[in-house]
This record gives sequence, C-alpha cells and structure tokens, in this order.
Amino acid sequence: MDKDYPRGWAELYSWFPDNAACLNYLERLRWPSGFECPMCGVAEEPWRQTRGRLTCSSCRHQTSVTAGTIFEKTRTPLTTWFAAAWYVTNQKTGASALGLQQVLGLRSYQTAWTLLHKLRRAMVRPGRELLGGEVEVDETYVGGREEGVTGRFTRKKAIVVIALEIKRPRGYGRVRLRRIPDVSADSLVPFIRDAVLPDAVVLTDGWQGYKPLSRESYTHKPTNIKASGDPAHVSMPGVHRVAALLKRWLMGTHQGAVRPKHIDAYLDEYTFRFNRRTSISRGLLFYRLLEQAVVTKPAPYEDIVIRDGDPGRRRRS
Ligand SMILES: [Zn+2]
Repeated sequence: MDKDYPRGWAELYSWFPDNAACLNYLERLRWPSGFECPMCGVAEEPWRQTRGRLTCSSCRHQTSVTAGTIFEKTRTPLTTWFAAAWYVTNQKTGASALGLQQVLGLRSYQTAWTLLHKLRRAMVRPGRELLGGEVEVDETYVGGREEGVTGRFTRKKAIVVIALEIKRPRGYGRVRLRRIPDVSADSLVPFIRDAVLPDAVVLTDGWQGYKPLSRESYTHKPTNIKASGDPAHVSMPGVHRVAALLKRWLMGTHQGAVRPKHIDAYLDEYTFRFNRRTSISRGLLFYRLLEQAVVTKPAPYEDIVIRDGDPGRRRRS
C-alpha cells in the first residue's frame, strides 16, 4: 500500500465518513498483500458479512480486521478512533485527554482518556529494531518531588533508563526508554539487551550496575565522571539532553501531573515522538500510528484500570 494518508482535518473526514471506510483502511494496513486467515494462514479473499465480519473461505474461521488489536470490542466508533489518532499525531508536543475530549466533542472524559491510553500503547512498535553503533545509556528520575534524597536512591520518583544512539560527527539517532524498579545490574542489563544490538559500543558512567556489560558481547566504555572532572552532562551529553527534554515535555504537556503508574504509557508516547521528530509529515505519523495499532494486542480495559489503579471508572471505551 502506498503510504496514503489524509492531509488535513477536511480530508480526514471525507476519507473516513463511516465505519466501513475505516475498516477498509485498517484492512490495507494489516494485510498489505491481501487477507490472511489468522487461524489457518490461508491467503484467500474472505467471505464478507455485515459489520466487517470476515469468514475464511478455507477453514470458515470468523474474524475481523480489529480482532486481536487495540480496537477489539471497542464501543467507540472507528471514525472517532481515527479522529483521535489524527489529533494525537497532529499535536506537535502531545495530547491531553481533556484536549481530545474538547476537540472531538466527546461527552465522556473517560472515553477520551481511554482512547489516548490505548493509542499510546500502539506507539511502540512490536518487534522494533535494536539500537546500534554508539549508544549512550544512563538513568534519570521523573515524577514527584522528593526532598533530602540524593544520588541514585529514590522512593517517590520513577527511575527511567535511557538508551540513545549517538551519531558522529554530531546528532542523535533513536531512543529507547524504560521505567525500572531500581538501578541494579539486574534492572539495567536486561534493558540494554532488549534495546541495543550485541555488537554496539555502549557508553555509560562508572556506576557498578553497568559493570556486567564487559562480560556481554558489547564494547563497554564506562567513563568515571568523578575522575574525568567533567560534570555528567559533558561526558554524556546525549542522554542528558533527552532526559531534560522528557522532563520538560511531561511538565509542559501534562503539567507534570503524571503519576508513576501511568509513566510507561507516557514513555511510549515520548519515544514515538522523539524517534519520528524529523518526520515532516504529520499525516505520515497518523499512518504509522494506525499501522502499529493493527498489530498491537488489545489491553482489556480492566487491565488498564488495574495497571493504572484507576478504579471507579469501569466503562469500556
Ligand atoms: Zn482459515
């Protein structure tokens, strides 16, 4: 499928006037070379029924393009989902649930909040490529204020580990972020394995949690910041820049009102935006988001509620 996407709100509404148009678009994103039965794998044109139901002509399995995706069992019209995806990707810095509710004229704040939350889940591409070349890794602390706690020990703040590709002579590549429970090697090293190619050069400070990297396949280049005499932002400029941008973004877009239990979703959104910061086309971001949405597994609403500890809001999106 050509990367075709609307160029503005007017085109969005004329391209996607109803559910059928949305289903058609999602189908081309999910099965670019034609329908493939998720049960038997046969690639033949399915029988089409009402409400987007598809029946495999070989094994009779019934499915739909939204089954097994973030859109599964949604009660919100797909046209609203599409408008939400458009709004999210067209906000230069980020979208709040209140802003989304107002722009789309949604009656329920909770619907807006849930749509946003599910779209954020789709912002991190499953099976994405690992970072390579030279990669800076360091941790930062985001969230609530905390007094009298210094260094790497914290109770209220979330610890976020950052991996960033460094380009020579200048510039940055892609970023990966993860919230970790502590700064032990048991938390740091698995993140690096998941985020960074085995033959990469990994730049860290001299923290002991990074020591095991020398036994991995990486070329580990620790800098003892105290011994070097440089403050951390000089020897690790990239990750410190990302950390500063992340904190400013959380403060600016979300007024810092990010509870630690919600932080994973915000990290996903930030990663999506950072890694596509040079995309000149907002429409392409919309395309990418929906493309990822049809390969992102559903999170039943109850899961989101439990994970985010938001009881009392039990309506489905
Ligand atoms: Zn089949």
